[in-house]
This record gives sequence, structure tokens and C-alpha cells, in this order.
Amino acid sequence: MTLYAELHRHLGGSVVPRILWRYFQRNSSDKISQFIEYTDFEEFYTRKRNTLDEYLELHTLVESVQTEDSLPYFIYRLLRGAYIFENLAYLELRYTPYLRTPEDLSQSQRIDLMASIVDIVGKTSNSLKYPIVTSQILCMHSRLPYEVNKAIVDLAAQKREYVCAVDLAGGDRYYRERLDELVKLYEYALSSGIKTTGHVYETKDGCYQELLPHLMRIGHGIQIPLLYPELLPDLAKRNQCLEVCPTTYIKTGTLEDIRQLKLVFERCFDAGVDIAICTDNAGLHNVRLPFEYENLLTYDIINFEMLQSCQDAAFRHAFAWPYGERPASILNDIYSRNNLK
Ligand SMILES: [Zn+2]
Repeated sequence: MTLYAELHRHLGGSVVPRILWRYFQRNSSDKISQFIEYTDFEEFYTRKRNTLDEYLELHTLVESVQTEDSLPYFIYRLLRGAYIFENLAYLELRYTPYLRTPEDLSQSQRIDLMASIVDIVGKTSNSLKYPIVTSQILCMHSRLPYEVNKAIVDLAAQKREYVCAVDLAGGDRYYRERLDELVKLYEYALSSGIKTTGHVYETKDGCYQELLPHLMRIGHGIQIPLLYPELLPDLAKRNQCLEVCPTTYIKTGTLEDIRQLKLVFERCFDAGVDIAICTDNAGLHNVRLPFEYENLLTYDIINFEMLQSCQDAAFRHAFAWPYGERPASILNDIYSRNNLK
């Protein structure tokens, strides 16, 4: 059995529609009162949106119910699904801890509560029942003030047992006027020994060359090979990996046809830039990681050899996978040692 690494999955978008529906039925049925039956809700929840903004709006629905009390419920089910249906050996889960704290509290009270959210996610994720190596990426957010984003970086530094990196999310078109501030936050993170990724070059509005040198991996980044292929040699030199999430670009209206990704893979492979294939929001899309792989093969975007290099790259670029190689090679060692006996 091949085991996989997932490097880009949002906690908010990781809840599959059926689990969310059941949660609402049990705990806040007012949130689903406008849907006559489950299939209507699933259709609403997973349908294609016109823009990234519209798509991100949906995250707020899930964020509002992912509280201190309910997080273990969602994380337990997330790990169960990832272990049983996705063959994940490694999972980096990302979210903005501030957005999991009660909205009616003051900013400083909410900042203080972020640490306990990280602890809850960390403790629940280390489940022996579904053994997946997990780590958290804390997302700074383009609509949150500097003080909150700085506190997120500080928290990542304090909670190294649970957190491997920081990210920047919240819609890539909103970075422009705060670019200096964001560069400063990334410099601060790197100087504190925290690893970095960031949602950039996802859409045509999110292309900020200034941020690239500060990122160890690039969240999406598909507009680089599509629109700015001249930047690829620099990415290769910096050993930066793109986290490509195929279904997202269709759901957000960023690409019209998934086959447009063929050029992304071809140009990156030619330039020696690694790609990890990820789901972004497996629940929201109702598409699990093995199906992302299969879709790329079905549409002839990549071949099996390329798929395997992307799967290798995911383990190589994983921020908290301690073994360097894929589990398959570890299992092969055990297998050949046993056969030599
Ligand atoms: Zn994302």
C-alpha cells in the first residue's frame, strides 16, 4: 500500500459535507433549516463559486462552529477519514487560531485563547487509533491586524511540539497595501526558526514577487509557471516546492479547465521545481487526495512517473516528517531485511 503526505489542507475546509450536516442536525439545526434534505445541503456546500472571495466566504460557516468544544469532534473524524480512505501517513493541518476563538471577546482576550486552540488541535491529532504523523501550520490572515498576525508567529515559536510553520491566507488580492508588513512578519518568523509557506500566485491578483524569497514552500503558485515562467529558475535554486491543489482552481473559477494544469506541471518539471499535489479543502470539495491524483492521470495532465515524483516531493518538503524519505522506502528496507534472513 502506498502511503501519502498531505501538505496543504485547511481545518475549516476539511470537514466533509456529511459530517458537517450531522453536526448541525445534532447541535445547531437553525444553520441548516433552509435545506429540505441532505443532498440540497451537499449541493450548496460543494458547488463551484465564481471567485476566490466567494469561495472563502464558505469557510466562515465552518469556522463559526469549530470552537474549543467542538474541535475534537471534527478532528477525530478528519483523521479517521484520512487514515481509512486516503492512506495518509503525514498531514499538515492549517488554520487561523484567532478565528476559532469567540467573536464577542476583545482582541487581546482572543489572542490569549489561541494557545489553548493549538493545544486542543495538537492533542486530538496525536491519536493512536489513527496513526498519522501530523503537524499544524498557523495561518496569518490578510484581513487581520498586524498585532494578531505577529501573535500568530509568536505562538508558532512557542508551540513547536505541535506547530511546524506559518502561512498567509485570507485572499491573495488583499496583500498589496500591507506588503511591507507581511515581509516583516515573514522575516520575523524565519529569524525565529519557523518554517514558512504562503498563499501566493494562486490567482492573477495574487502575484507578489517581494514575498517569494521569504517562502520555503509556495501555497498554489500556479500563476508562476503560467504567467511568469522566467521566475522558475529562482524557485529551483531556492528549492521551493509548489503546493498545487487541482480541484480548488475549478471551484474558485481561477481556471476554466483542469487541463490548463498540464502546462504548470510541464514547466515546473522542466525547470526542476518540485510540486506536491494537495487537496486544500478536501471536505468542501468532497475530493480526497487519492482522487486528486487519479483526476490528474485521467485528464492526462501527468503520467504515473510524474505522479510518483510529486508524491516523493511531498515527503521531502514536509516540514515535520522526520525521516527524509517516503514510508514506502522505509517499508522496502524492512521487507528486504526480512527476505535476507
Ligand atoms: Zn489553501
